[in-house]
Amino acid sequence: MKTTVTRRTALAFGAAAAASTIMRPGIGRAAAPFEQPPLPYAEDALAPDISARTVALHYGKHHKGYFTKLNELVAGTKYADLSLEDVVVQSHKDGELAIFNQAAQGWNHNFYWEQFKGGPAKPEGDLAARIESGFGHMGGLVEEFGAAADAVFGTGWVWLVMDGEKVALRSYQDAGNPLQDGLKSLVGIDVWEHAYYLDYENLRAKHVTRVLNNRVNWVAVAERMA
Ligand code: MN
Repeated sequence: MKTTVTRRTALAFGAAAAASTIMRPGIGRAAAPFEQPPLPYAEDALAPDISARTVALHYGKHHKGYFTKLNELVAGTKYADLSLEDVVVQSHKDGELAIFNQAAQGWNHNFYWEQFKGGPAKPEGDLAARIESGFGHMGGLVEEFGAAADAVFGTGWVWLVMDGEKVALRSYQDAGNPLQDGLKSLVGIDVWEHAYYLDYENLRAKHVTRVLNNRVNWVAVAERMA
């Protein structure tokens, strides 16, 4: 089905995001050409935890590049008619690694930027209870998150997910994400060096700790969980 640019953009981040704080990155029936959603705040909005220079490069070069390459790869294929999320799931099932890598990185970064919107805000209610049950307390979650990030060899992502009734951490290499395992994503932290090296050099866990404590909108995380 043909959709207009306006509608695609609205489905990705605009009107839908305004109507609800629940994040649905890349969801909707928008098919190719896939479009990178606008950054939901100014490039310097995450400083000093993530500098404006890192955001400019990460959003403007890396994230943008995944969409450019994805559109080249899916042109004329069955994937061109799917939503971005469905391309991730289907290309993973099909073993189409080149398409999966670009689609998953597009989706991952849509999620990544959106989770900082309106932050910081502390976990509350049911989410806070599940974090306590799984990790003892918020500090325990942050510590385990940082350790999981350090344990990823090379490039990858660490995700907080819903695993049944529990919140749990999942680590993935490269472009991996919980969609491939049918799990709901709550928080996604990019541990590729481009995400932190300009600001933290080799201190990956320090970056993760600062971002989790100072930038994530945990109230929006709770809404995603519900
Ligand atoms: Mn990245």
